[in-house]
Amino acid sequence: MAEHNKIQKTIVVGAGPVGALAALYTAQRGHDVEVYELRNDLRDPSTTPLNFTKSINLALSERGINALKHSSRPSLLGKIFAETVPLAGRMIHGKNSAGQLTEQSQAYDIHGRTNYAADRGGLNKLLLDELETMPNIRFFFNHKLTGADFKNNKAWFTRGKSTPGKCDEEIEIDFDFLIGADGAHSAVRYHLMKYTRMDYQQEYIDTLWCEFHIDAKEVLPGEDPESRFRIDPNHLHIWPGKNFMFIAIASFDGSFTCTLFMPSAHFTHLSTTPDTLPEFFDTYFPGVTSLIPRQDLIASFTSNPHLPLISIKCSPFHYSSSAVILGDAAHAMVPFYGQGMNAGFEDVFVLFKFLDKYSPLIPTTPPLPFPTFPTLASFRAKALAEYSKQRTEDAHAINDLALQNYKEMRADVTSPLYLARKWLEEK
Ligand code: FAD
Repeated sequence: MAEHNKIQKTIVVGAGPVGALAALYTAQRGHDVEVYELRNDLRDPSTTPLNFTKSINLALSERGINALKHSSRPSLLGKIFAETVPLAGRMIHGKNSAGQLTEQSQAYDIHGRTNYAADRGGLNKLLLDELETMPNIRFFFNHKLTGADFKNNKAWFTRGKSTPGKCDEEIEIDFDFLIGADGAHSAVRYHLMKYTRMDYQQEYIDTLWCEFHIDAKEVLPGEDPESRFRIDPNHLHIWPGKNFMFIAIASFDGSFTCTLFMPSAHFTHLSTTPDTLPEFFDTYFPGVTSLIPRQDLIASFTSNPHLPLISIKCSPFHYSSSAVILGDAAHAMVPFYGQGMNAGFEDVFVLFKFLDKYSPLIPTTPPLPFPTFPTLASFRAKALAEYSKQRTEDAHAINDLALQNYKEMRADVTSPLYLARKWLEEK
């Protein structure tokens, strides 16, 4: 078969949300798609969610929704929305001078548009289910990328779960195009660096995060089902503490996933005296101990991991026509702008905008009879170069905004200047 008519074999490394969406876009364009994922299938109930004790709740926003809309799978967005909770704004919790609890709602959008609280694992599962319905996609779970040759288009994976003292079996896979969506500690990015002069910068901020949980309320027969939420579900709840903060995002089942963000020294200090945690919460996050029983607060703090936050910038994102990195692999960011996954989804949309721009230029039969006939690979190389150039600037900007937004959330939301500006904006 002539090169330009050959069905392309694309391999996607990483079946997280971004890899899954990238696989969907690729399969829609008729490629043979193979998805390689380090871990077990997360739809298998025995799989522990990556890094988390349970899946976290994410804010799905316009750039992510737009990318999902353009996946050409008409029912997908409906299925996703069915399991989300609209987030109209943020709710700032505090105390007034009389010591009474206060709540202040700040709308996200003057036109009333909302973000959506989505369960990361649930969203990922829906994307994998959608992929499963496509005949040209194959999954390879428990496959870890260990090496790649981007000049000769070969990748190596170890298969199966590692057994101490035993070498895992290694397999070699050929591909036309490789999409690396293997997260912040990307192996694809590491190997890409050997083929392109990639600038790379990573920063761990001095803040760790720990997950907590507000249980759903039992709804008695005849009661409004909405009463399953102990606090307003349509807000991202923030307890700002200047140098730290506590947030809560609703889940569809009525519970809330909560996150404590705090400098590492505070975690160390409180870890030595966990019994003082409820008192610490009463001082800085008023009202939380009436939502989370004191013992549960201590148990979550002592048993859930205290996890780091990394911010990564690199450039370029691709090598020639053979590989590109997307999502956290290309631009892991701190979570304070709620845009990590959304920006990763947008990467997929923008990448395919460039790939599609060049694909209509590829003539179909009969092939032109001269030897310099441009190949599919040369068109893809152009598309990837344009993608990298445009996307790097945008990715760096959103990384910076995410870092800045931490200060806004933990401190500025209560400053009189900020509130006056917000009030004027809403007029
Ligand atoms: P990941 O989700 O990291 O997926 C990568 C996949 O690759 C994993 O399945 C992994 O097992 C696999 N993998 C890794 N190495 C290999 C290998 N060598 N071989 C094969 N497979 C491999 N984002 C938002 O948009 N909104 C939010 O509100 C939001 N809130 C957040 C809150 C917190 C506390 C945190 C920590 C993050 C938040 N994010 C949010 C960010 C979001 O979780 C990430 O941006 C998103 O998960 C990135 O998706 P990804 O598919 O690029 O990478």
